[in-house]
Amino acid sequence: MTSASGRHIGLAERFAAHNYHPLPVVVAEAEGSWVTDVDGRRYLDCLAGYSALNFGHRHPQLLAAARAQLDRLTLSSRAFHHDQFGPFCAELAALAGTAGMGPDPMVLPMNTGSEAVETALKVARKWGYEVKGVPDGQATIIVATGNFHGRTISIVSFSDDPDAHDHFGPYTPGFRIVPYGDAKAVADAIDDTTVAVLLEPIQGEAGVIVPPEGYLAEVRRVCTQRNVLFLADEIQSGLGRTGATFACEHAGVVPDLFILGKALGGGIVPVSAVVGGAEVLGVIRPGQHGSTFGGNPLACAVGRAVIALLNEGTYQARGRELGVLLHERLRGLVGQGLVSVRGVGLWAGLDVDPALGTGRDICAGLADRGVLAKDTHGSTIRLAPPLVTEPADLDWAVDQLADVLRTR
Ligand SMILES: *Cc1c(COP(=O)(O)O)cnc(C)c1O
Repeated sequence: MTSASGRHIGLAERFAAHNYHPLPVVVAEAEGSWVTDVDGRRYLDCLAGYSALNFGHRHPQLLAAARAQLDRLTLSSRAFHHDQFGPFCAELAALAGTAGMGPDPMVLPMNTGSEAVETALKVARKWGYEVKGVPDGQATIIVATGNFHGRTISIVSFSDDPDAHDHFGPYTPGFRIVPYGDAKAVADAIDDTTVAVLLEPIQGEAGVIVPPEGYLAEVRRVCTQRNVLFLADEIQSGLGRTGATFACEHAGVVPDLFILGKALGGGIVPVSAVVGGAEVLGVIRPGQHGSTFGGNPLACAVGRAVIALLNEGTYQARGRELGVLLHERLRGLVGQGLVSVRGVGLWAGLDVDPALGTGRDICAGLADRGVLAKDTHGSTIRLAPPLVTEPADLDWAVDQLADVLRTR
C-alpha cells in the first residue's frame, strides 16, 4: 500500500465508526465503469455502488441535469410546489405503467432505500386498517428469509442476519418470516391480520438469489385472492440491472407497490420512491408521512434524467446482452474455482470454492488486479458492473477472476 492510500485509510480507521470493512482502495475519481484511486491506479468497478451506479459514474446526461438544477433551485421543501416535482412523479408513474402498473399509479418520493421500505410498510398497515378492515394495531406483514431491506429498527426487526439484527431490540412486532422461494409458506402464513407480503424479486445482499420459476407469480395470485398487498423491493433489482426496467417483469408480475431507490438517484444524490395505485397510496393524507428532503428539486431533476435514460430502452438491452456474456464466461469457471453461479442480466452471485479462501480474499485478489467487487456472505461474491461497461472490459474482468482463482 502506498503512502497516499495508507494515510486516508489510517484517518478512516481512526475517526470513522467501523460499520464497514472496506477493501484497501481509496477512490478519488471515476468515469463510466472505471475508477481511479489516490495513487493513480485504475480499477473496473464491478460493484457499481450496489447498483446505485447502474448508468456508470458521472453519466454525462445525469451530470448535465444535476448541474442545470444546481444553477436554478436545490431545495424548496414540500411546504411548496416546485417545477421538477410534478413532472418527476408523472414520469415515474408512467415508467411503472410500462411494467403494467395501472391505471393511475401515484408516487411518494423519499431519499434512501430504507425510507422507501418504511414508507411501504406504513402505507400497507394504514391500508390494512382503513381499507381491508384489519382491527387497529393487529396488522401483520410477511417477509422472507435472507431478506435485506435496509437498516432501520423496524427493518432489522425482521432480518434473519444476526449481524443486522442482534442487539438492536426491542424489535418492531407484526412481521412473519417465511422461507424465500416457497409460495406455499407465504399462503400458509396469511391470516385475517395480514396486510402485505414484502419481497425482493431477486435477493441482492443474500447473494443474488433467484427464486424458483413461478414463485413470484404464485405469491401474486395468493395475495390477490386473499386481499393482501404485494410489495416488491426493487431497490437493487430494478432500473435496468436485470435487463428489464423492473425484475418483476421477468416473472410477468405486477406488484401493488414498487419500492425504488439506488439507481433512481443516478449515483449523484439519494433518491427513493414508492409507486402504487391510488387505492393504496391514497390512504396517506397531509401530515401523515413526509420527509424534509424527499422529492427535492435536485433529486427530482436527476431522477427525471434517470427515467429518460430508462425510457430509451437501450440500458435494459445492454443489461441483457452483457448479462449473456457475463454468465457464459462465469459458467466456464464452475469447477475451476467456482462452485456455482446464478443471476439475471448483468447481475451475478458466485460461490467460490471455500478451499480457495473467503469471498473477501478473492475480492482482495481482484482489487490487486484492478477489479472492484464485493463479497456478500462467506464465500459468495456479487458482480454488478455498470450497464455502460464495454464488453471487452467485462471479458477482461472475468479473466482477472479466473487468474485469481487459478493462483490461489
Ligand atoms: C440497498 C437496499 C436497501 C436499502 O437502501 P439504503 O439506500 O441503503 O437505505 C433496501 N432494499 C434493498 C433490496 C437494497 O438492496
